[in-house]
Amino acid sequence: MVMFSEAGEKQSVIDSSLHTMKLTLIQKIKLKINGRVYLEHRTKHGWRGSLPFYAFRCPIHGIVIDYPHGVDDSLSCTKCWEEKFLNKETVK
Ligand SMILES: [Zn+2]
Repeated sequence: MVMFSEAGEKQSVIDSSLHTMKLTLIQKIKLKINGRVYLEHRTKHGWRGSLPFYAFRCPIHGIVIDYPHGVDDSLSCTKCWEEKFLNKETVK
């Protein structure tokens, strides 16, 4: 994975720390009930403030961690996003 752009490199550095997060039993139960569970507020490089991070289940990658995007606070799997991004790069 040396082919990342500068932005992609930052992303993967952040991911490695995110995916080491282990869920407690209570968090796992909340995840099952709500589809997502709040973990903590985190700040990414370049952010002025912090955002709430949630764990949720990706049908492909299992439990993944993301923060809400857009007006509907949707969560998206970073791994899926990365794979889409990489596929696009290889198709070109
Ligand atoms: Zn995924």
